[in-house]
Amino acid sequence: MTILRIALPIPKRQLFDYSYQGPAPELGVRVQVPFGPRTMVGLVWEIADTSQWPEAKLKPIIQLLDDKPVFNTTQITLCNWLATYYKHPIGDVVQTALPVALRKGGSNESKLLQYWTVTDLGQQTDLNDLSRAPKQQACLVQLKAGELEKSQANQQFGPASLKALAAKEYITLKEKKREQLEPWAKQICISDKPQANTQQALAISCIEASIGKFASFLLEGITGSGKTEVYLQAIESVLLQGQQVLILVPEIGLTPQTVFRFKHRFGIEVGVLHSALTDNERLAVWQQSAAGQLGLIIGTRSAIFTPMLTPGLLIVDEEHDASYKQQDGLRYHARDLAVMRAHTENIPLVLGTATPALETLNNALTGKYQHLHLPLRAGNAVVAKQQVFDIRQQPLEFGLAKGMLERIALHLKQGSQVMLFINRRGYAPALMCHCCGHVEQCHSCNKPFTLHKSLHKLQCHHCGGAKGIPKVCENCHSSELTSQGVGTEQLEQGLAGYFPQYKSVRIDSDTTRGKNKLDKMLNLINNNEYQILIGTQILSKGHHFPNVTLVVIMDVDGALFSADYRAAEHLAQLITQLAGRAGRAQKPGEMWLQTYDPAHPLLQDLINNGYGHFARYALLERQQANLPPYTYQALFKAQALSARDAHEFLQQIADLFVHEASVACLGPIPALMEKRQGHYRMQLLLQSQQRSTLQQAINQHINQIENLGLGQKVRWALDIDPQDFS
Ligand code: ADP
Ligand code: ZN
Ligand code: ZN
Repeated sequence: MTILRIALPIPKRQLFDYSYQGPAPELGVRVQVPFGPRTMVGLVWEIADTSQWPEAKLKPIIQLLDDKPVFNTTQITLCNWLATYYKHPIGDVVQTALPVALRKGGSNESKLLQYWTVTDLGQQTDLNDLSRAPKQQACLVQLKAGELEKSQANQQFGPASLKALAAKEYITLKEKKREQLEPWAKQICISDKPQANTQQALAISCIEASIGKFASFLLEGITGSGKTEVYLQAIESVLLQGQQVLILVPEIGLTPQTVFRFKHRFGIEVGVLHSALTDNERLAVWQQSAAGQLGLIIGTRSAIFTPMLTPGLLIVDEEHDASYKQQDGLRYHARDLAVMRAHTENIPLVLGTATPALETLNNALTGKYQHLHLPLRAGNAVVAKQQVFDIRQQPLEFGLAKGMLERIALHLKQGSQVMLFINRRGYAPALMCHCCGHVEQCHSCNKPFTLHKSLHKLQCHHCGGAKGIPKVCENCHSSELTSQGVGTEQLEQGLAGYFPQYKSVRIDSDTTRGKNKLDKMLNLINNNEYQILIGTQILSKGHHFPNVTLVVIMDVDGALFSADYRAAEHLAQLITQLAGRAGRAQKPGEMWLQTYDPAHPLLQDLINNGYGHFARYALLERQQANLPPYTYQALFKAQALSARDAHEFLQQIADLFVHEASVACLGPIPALMEKRQGHYRMQLLLQSQQRSTLQQAINQHINQIENLGLGQKVRWALDIDPQDFS
C-alpha cells in the first residue's frame, strides 16, 4: 500500500493522507477522494510510506483522474513556494494555479481540432455559381487554397455561410489532432522589423546573451522609446531556437491591437489568456502551451501559471501595474512569481516599463537585476512638455480653468485630439443639500454616494450599492440638492456644450463594459471620429493615441495628502504614463496638470526632472522612513460586523508578536476604508528589516492565529508585501 498526500481545495495549511493500492502515480496527477460526506478532486502532492494517522483510519482514494500529471515539476515547485512565502493553504494555491475546467475533474485530454475543408464537389464547382452569395464565394475561394480552423472560419465568414456551403456539400468539417499541425517553429516568418537603434541594440544583445540561463532585467524606457520592439527582437532569437515565450500584460492592455503586433511580426499563432475567455478556451491554450504547440503566449496576471514545454523567455510588460498583484484569496504578485519562475526554469526575465515600481528600481540599482535603458523616443517623436497650471482663485467650469479651456480650443482648432484625465467616473462625487449641508451617504460604507445622472442613480463606488436620486434632503426635506465636484459624465456634458462642433468620447469602466467595447472605442479614436477624449485610469494604460497633442490632468491634489505611503509613487506613475500618451507620432505634445499646489516639490521634481529622478529621490525618502523596499511588511486584515471583534482579533495576533524583537507591530488600526458593505475593517501591520525574520516570525504563529476563537466571527486575511492599504 502507498500513502498519497493530497492537496485538497480546503482552507487548511496541510496535505491530506489517503491510501492507494498499486504503484505510486506521478506527482501532480489528479485524484478523486472521499472527504466527509462528499467527494473532492485534489492533486497528488507527496508520496509517503508512513502517515501520522493509523493505517486503518486512512481512506482509499476513489480513482486516479489522469495518466499524466496536470502540473509539471516547475509548477509544483512554484506552488510550494507560493504556499510557503504567502502562508497560503497549498490546496488553495493549487486551485488558483489550475484552470477552472480541470478543478472539478474534467478531462485533460486535448480536444481534436475541427477544421473546414473543400469536398471534391466543391473543388469542381464554378465560383461564378456563387456570385449572388459573395460571402460564401469568398469562403470557398479561401478553402480551395487550404483548410481553415472552425473558430477562425466562423469569425471570418460567419456560421451562416459555412452552413450554407456545407448544405450544398461543397465543404465538410473534419477533425485532427493538434500534433498533426505544422509546428510553429517552421511557420515563423518575420515581417516589418525596423533596424534597432543603438540603445535598443544594446538591450537586445544583453538579453540574447542570457538565453538559456537565469537573468532578470529591468528595461526602463520612456513611453514610445521602443520597449516593445526590444521584446520583439529578443523574442525572435528565442523562438528561432525553438523555445517558447510567455508575456504578461496588464488586464486593460491586452487588446487585439497588442496581440496583432506580435502575431504579425512572427506570422505564428499566439495563445491569448484573459478574463473574458470561457473555461474551455482557457484550458485549450494551457494544454497547447504545455505540449509546446504554441510559441508565444500572452496573458494577464494568472497566465503566469501557464506551463511551457520548452520555456525560453518571460516578459512582464508595464511591470509597475497594480493589476499584477492579486487582491483576494492567494494574494500573490505575478511579477515576483515571474522572478521565481525564471529562476526555476533557468531562463531570462525582462521587466519593462517607463515608470518602474520602487521595489524593482531598487533591485536594479543594487545590481540584483541588470538595468537596461532606453532614454530616447524611437523614430522622431518628441517627449511631451509637462507643466503645472495654478488654479488657485480661478473660476472653474465643469472642473476646468478658463486658461485651460483656451488651450483645448487651440489644439482642437489645429486638428489635433485632446485628452482629459479625471479620476472620478459618474456625474459628481457627491450630492449635497444646499440648505443643511447634508451629504447623501451609503450607510453600509459611510462614504458619499456618487451621482450618476445618466443612470438616474446614486451609486456607492465601494460596495456597488445604489438607489434612486432623491428629490428632497433626507435630513431637512429641502428640495435644493446640488452636486459637488466633477466626474467624467459632467465633464463630457460640459465640453459638449462648450465645443459643440467637436465630438467627445468618455472612457471609463461605465462606458467600456462589454466585449471588445474598449477596443472598438480605441479604433474610432484612432480614426479621428472623436476629438475630445475624457477618461479615468484606463487612459493611462499603454494605448497609443498618435493624434493627441494635449493632455490635461484635472484632479490629482488629493493624492498628495494620502495616508498611503505609496500614493506619491502611484501618482508619479500615473502622470508620467498620461504624459506619454501625447505627441507619440510626429506632432509635439504638451501636458498640463491643474493643481492648487503648483510649487509642490513632488510635482516640480517630476515635471522638471522626470520619473527616473523622482523615483530615486522617493527611494531615499523610503530609506529614511524605514519603509519598503528597505523593510519588509505583512498586513493582517480583519473585518467583522462589530468593530470591537475585528480589533480584538488583531490585538490577539499583535500579542503573539510582542516578544519578536526584530518585528515591529503597528496597530491594530482602522483600514483607510473603515467600513465597507456593513463590515468594520481593521489592520495590523508587521514590519521587519529582514524578509527572512518576518517570514520566520509568521511561520511560528500562523497555526495559533488560525485557531483563534474569534476567527469564527471575523473574516481575516494575511497579505504579504501588501500594496494596497485601503
Ligand atoms: P514602447 O513599447 O516603449 O512604448 P514601441 O516599441 O511601441 O515603444 O515603439 C514606439 C513606436 O516607435 C512604434 O510605433 C514603433 O513601431 C516605433 N519604433 C520602435 N523602435 C523603432 C526603431 N528602431 N525604428 C523605427 N521605429 C521604431
Ligand atoms: Zn438638508
Ligand atoms: Zn457602499
